[in-house]
Amino acid sequence: MDKNSSNIMALAPNTSNKRETVCIFGTGDFGRALGHKMIQSGYPVVFGSRSAQTSSLIPKGAEVLSHTEAAQKAAIIIIAIQRQHYNFLIPLTEILHGKVLVDVSNNLKINEHPESNAEYLAQLVPGAKVVKAFNTVSAWALQSGTLDASRQVFVCGDDMEAKQMVMNIVRALGLTPLDQGSLLAAQEIENYPLRLFPMWKFPILLSFGLASFFFFYCLIRNVIYPYVYENKDFSFFIAISIPNRICPILALILLALVYLPGVLAAIIQLYRGTKYRRFPDWLDKWMLCRKQLGLVALAFASLHVLYTLVIPIRYFVRWRMSSQIISQVLNNKTEPLDTTNAWLSDSYVALGILGFFLFVLLGITSLPSVSNNVNWREFRFVQSKLGYLTLILCTAHTLVYGGKRFLSPSSYRWYLPNAYMLSLIIPCMVLVVKFVLIFPCLDKPLTRIRQGWERNPQYSEQSHYIINKSAV
Ligand code: NAP
Repeated sequence: MDKNSSNIMALAPNTSNKRETVCIFGTGDFGRALGHKMIQSGYPVVFGSRSAQTSSLIPKGAEVLSHTEAAQKAAIIIIAIQRQHYNFLIPLTEILHGKVLVDVSNNLKINEHPESNAEYLAQLVPGAKVVKAFNTVSAWALQSGTLDASRQVFVCGDDMEAKQMVMNIVRALGLTPLDQGSLLAAQEIENYPLRLFPMWKFPILLSFGLASFFFFYCLIRNVIYPYVYENKDFSFFIAISIPNRICPILALILLALVYLPGVLAAIIQLYRGTKYRRFPDWLDKWMLCRKQLGLVALAFASLHVLYTLVIPIRYFVRWRMSSQIISQVLNNKTEPLDTTNAWLSDSYVALGILGFFLFVLLGITSLPSVSNNVNWREFRFVQSKLGYLTLILCTAHTLVYGGKRFLSPSSYRWYLPNAYMLSLIIPCMVLVVKFVLIFPCLDKPLTRIRQGWERNPQYSEQSHYIINKSAV
């Protein structure tokens, strides 16, 4: 039979329940894992291999043939072979004409080649319909069935019908196809598995930098200073006291940094009188990683809670309390209850508890399973209104903790203020600017700008139309 007519027949919609044969080139780890999954899902599988012999590793029920023989048996051929070996397909160009070739390959480096592997495959076999898919699923996950975290399969290709056929297979395997458009998207899809937490880079580097700065700051103030001036060894503060200072400081600063870009964006929009102009790149990137910044902040807040819970069982704390009691006994003098201090201490703890509770609530609503179940207005309400309330409570918690110590000269060592005072700078700035932005003289024009109004309409004609991202 004419080879092209057989291809056309194979590509025709399948009206029976019987699944069509799928061919897999390559009997390596990925080819075998995918073949195993396909056989489980009811697809007849035929492998195309350099050595057409079956072995115990080949999934039961699959045939192993030469590339030419295998290709003739199916309309869809999955190329489970590394890109550097694609040249072997050139002599098969005629047989592969009109077939759907599924490129599953990955690279070792981001943008390793000028064109994506899928585009390269399409150039090598011009008559075939190349579809990119499955590259983000690992052989191990396919074989062990642990696909919970990676059910999504990104699919792209220029031929709609071919793409649809591959998406049907993806669905039949119990996975979720995500159409990413034309084959141009393949480069991006091939880069996905190589990315190392791209959105987390900035928050983690920032936290690392801030943590190092505050660690040395506290070390100088709380360990080196008493050693130099009083010859006291407080080096054990490094274990719990200093981390318990750094964690709330970082939590508060990072939480404020979640809201600072929104405030800056509002100022920029008010200044420009339009929302149709791109924000600077750094602000765009900052806004995109606010969720990650918030989650890192929540992690530090949780650590602060844990460190605080162990305070009563610390030897140093128990020693200090017993010394105070003994000194009262020796002096035959009981310290009266200071209600102001009691109020300050209880309010400080209460604000901390409430702040942490809302912080956890914010963290929970940022989980995809929760955020998918709320509408945009509800999400905004939680992330913006409750978020600001969390920031207010946590800032108040720190302010009340400082209490009267702000003005006490003894809290300045080598002219260095207490570390928590530094942590208040950004949150207070954000809250003050946000408060100013609530005034109707600023809020009204800002709301109008965000609804599309322009003070100077020239920008509406510009091509770089960017939707306002500063909502939260
Ligand atoms: P592999 O274990 O190295 O297997 C590749 C197969 O390619 C070999 O078993 C061999 O099959 C065939 N082959 C090797 N050299 C060849 C040549 N010169 N000419 C023709 N065929 C050749 O690789 P793999 O892990 O299965 O990965 C296969 C593809 O899937 C790669 O592009 C990879 O990026 C992609 N992928 C892998 C994973 C994973 O978890 N492993 C995940 C996603 C995507 P025969 O001996 O039968 O000819």
